[in-house]
This record gives sequence, C-alpha cells and structure tokens, in this order.
Amino acid sequence: MEREKKDNSRNLYIGIGSNLNNPIHQLNIAIEYLSKIDFSHNMKIASFYESPPMGPLDQNNYINTAVMFSSSESPEDILITLKDIESSMGRKKNSIRWSERTIDLDIILLGDLVYESDSLTIPHMYAHERAFVLFPLLDLNPDIFIPKKGFAKDLVKDCLYRNIKKIENNERFEI
Ligand code: AMP
Repeated sequence: MEREKKDNSRNLYIGIGSNLNNPIHQLNIAIEYLSKIDFSHNMKIASFYESPPMGPLDQNNYINTAVMFSSSESPEDILITLKDIESSMGRKKNSIRWSERTIDLDIILLGDLVYESDSLTIPHMYAHERAFVLFPLLDLNPDIFIPKKGFAKDLVKDCLYRNIKKIENNERFEI
C-alpha cells in the first residue's frame, strides 16, 4: 500500500493539456515548471497525444500528456501549486465549459487516495472515461489502477474521445 511508505509519499499523476499558443510548447513549459517545484523528484513524462476538442468545436485540437512523481504534499497544497503554474503561464479564466486554454493542470491520481472537498475530487472525476487521460497514464504505469473505477488498461477499451493520435516527435526539451 502506497500510503504505508515510511516517508508518507504517494505517486502523484498530473494531467497536462493545452490547445492555444503552440500547445506542444505550452506543455513543455508546464513540464519545466513542474520539474522545478521542490517536491517533484524523479519525474516521469508520458508521450504527447493530440485529440479534437470535446467541448465547443470552433477551437483547435488539444495536446495532452501526464507526468508522475512521488509527493508527500497534501492534495490542497498540490492544487495551489498547479494553479500558481497555470497563472504564471497566463491562463485566463473562461466561464464556458471546456473552452480553449493555454494550459490546464489536473491532479489525476494521488496514490490510492480517494478525496473529495469543495475544490477537489481525487481521482479526477472524468479520468476513467477519457482516452486523452488514460493513454498518458498507461505510458507512465501500464498497471495503473483508478480507485473505485478499475485498471486503466481495461477502462481504455471502451472510453470516450478515442479519436486520439500519439505525437511521435514532440520536440520535448531535456529537463
Ligand atoms: P479546470 O477548469 O480543469 O482548471 O478546473 C477548475 C477547478 O476544478 C479547479 O479550480 C479545481 O478547484 C477543480 N478541481 C476538482 N477536482 C480537481 C482535480 N482533481 N484536479 C484539478 N482541479 C480540480
């Protein structure tokens, strides 16, 4: 059990998405920010994936990936850190659901934690049904289990938004 580890750390999976201002570049910048936070040791990075928008259709395709590292931070502190990175990267608030964005950072999983507050739901409430979340998760851990939902390798077989393409050369810079 991950929560019984001595240092109380858990595997944190963060989903990253963008569809504005050169999304691949935005993802690389977000990864750079995440690599600099003081608790992101030994970060693993998934492949990048492209998929059509799931909300309003008059917007660019999305690029998504995920990263994983071990963290002993609280869920709410992690959320604050992610929101800080989003604002540093110039994300503007938009009241339209699923509208275009320069960067979106979500907590997908934090070990086997199941957590619910006014500001946060972990596992992320839609993670289990979205191809653009499940494929990056599987890159990071083929045996990843989403609490209360199942193994990602099973969920991916009949999830939504399957029109997804792996980006073979994402020009990711070394971190
Ligand atoms: P978004 O539009 O994806 O940036 O999400 C908006 C809000 O969703 C955030 O400000 C959070 O308060 C809330 N939220 C709920 N669950 C999560 C999660 N697992 N990761 C990130 N944000 C979450």
